[in-house]
Amino acid sequence: MNFQQIENNIYKNCCPLCGANSISPQGRLDYVGRTKFSSREIELMHLPELWNCDVCLSGFVQHTVDEETAKMLYSTGQAGERWSTVPFEQNKTRNVIDTMSVIFRDKGNVLDVGCNTGELLDFAQSFGCRTWGVEYSAASRAILADKGHGAYSSFEDASGGYDVIAAFDLVEHLYDVPTFLKNCREKLAENGKLVILTGNIGSLSAQLARAHWWYAQYPEHIIFPSRKYFSEYSGMKIQKWVSTYASKGYQNPINKAVWGMLKGMLRGRIYTGLPSLGPDHVLVVLNK
Ligand SMILES: [Zn+2]
Repeated sequence: MNFQQIENNIYKNCCPLCGANSISPQGRLDYVGRTKFSSREIELMHLPELWNCDVCLSGFVQHTVDEETAKMLYSTGQAGERWSTVPFEQNKTRNVIDTMSVIFRDKGNVLDVGCNTGELLDFAQSFGCRTWGVEYSAASRAILADKGHGAYSSFEDASGGYDVIAAFDLVEHLYDVPTFLKNCREKLAENGKLVILTGNIGSLSAQLARAHWWYAQYPEHIIFPSRKYFSEYSGMKIQKWVSTYASKGYQNPINKAVWGMLKGMLRGRIYTGLPSLGPDHVLVVLNK
C-alpha cells in the first residue's frame, strides 16, 4: 500500500467559529499515523487532539492537515468509492426525509454543496426542483451531469438566488465555517433556507465519548459547531432543529443502545458513542 506522508501541523490559538480565546483540550483523538483521508491512504506526522470552545461550546481539531493539502486529497480521491450512493430516501432517517420533503414541495432552485454523486439532488428533482451541485471530485461531477444536475467544481462558481442551499456532511470538513455561512446568506434568495446536516457535539453520546467520539475519528472531520454557535454566532436564525442520525443504519432502539454501551464497558472498551444513546446528528434549517 502506498501511504503518502502528510504534515498535519495546523494549530489554532482561538475558536475557529466564534473567535474566543478561551479554549480547552478534550484529549487525543484515536487515529494516529496511517489512516484514510476521504478515500486516500495517508500517514499523519503529528498527534491530533479534540478541543472545545468554552464560549460557544463548539468542538474543533488541533493538528489538522492544511487546507491546500486537504483540497488535493479530496480532488484526487474517488468520493463515490467511500460514500453512500444509496438513494436519499433509503439512506436517511424518517424525520430528515419528512423535513426535506416539505422544503422541496415548493419546487425551488436547490444547490447542494459537497453533493457527492447527487443523491439529495435526485430526491429534490423528484419534487420538480431545479438542481445544482458543488463537488471537488471530477468523477462525481461527471455522474451529476449524467443525471441532469448542474455541476460546479467550487462554491464560488455557483451564481446565487437559491431557495435552498443544502450542506449535508459538509461543515465538519470546513476550514472557515463563518465565511461559508456568510457566502450562503449572499447566495440565498430572500426567503431562502440553508439546511445543514452534521454531527451534534452537544448530543449525549458525543458528550460521553468526548475525544473518543466515533465521528471525530476521521482526519477530514475538523470542526463541530454547537447549537449555541448556530443560534448566536451564525448570523442566521434557526428555523428548525431536528435531532437525527447520520443515516438510518445508525439508528438503534434505546434499550439496544444502552445494552451495547454497557456490554462494551464491561469488556473494558472505551465508549465511542456507538451504539448511539439517542440521535448524535442534527438537521438545522437556517433563515436569513
Ligand atoms: Zn467558539
